[in-house]
Amino acid sequence: MVFKVVAIIAVLFIVYLLFFKRSRENEINNNKKRAKENKIEEVMEECPTCKTYISKKEAILSNGKYFCSKECLK
Ligand SMILES: [Zn+2]
Repeated sequence: MVFKVVAIIAVLFIVYLLFFKRSRENEINNNKKRAKENKIEEVMEECPTCKTYISKKEAILSNGKYFCSKECLK
């Protein structure tokens, strides 16, 4: 009887460890992904028309060049 209880606790503990490990791995992967996304936002590109530096996220991509606004795109 005591052995049964110990076995159940051991199984529950292993399941808990596996679940905890998996959720931690997901968290680490999410952090890595987020760091990568932040890096893209931080990259600055020079607008070929007005020479202003703008982040790639805000820039308008046209013919492989990053423009700060639609006015510069013309
Ligand atoms: Zn511009």
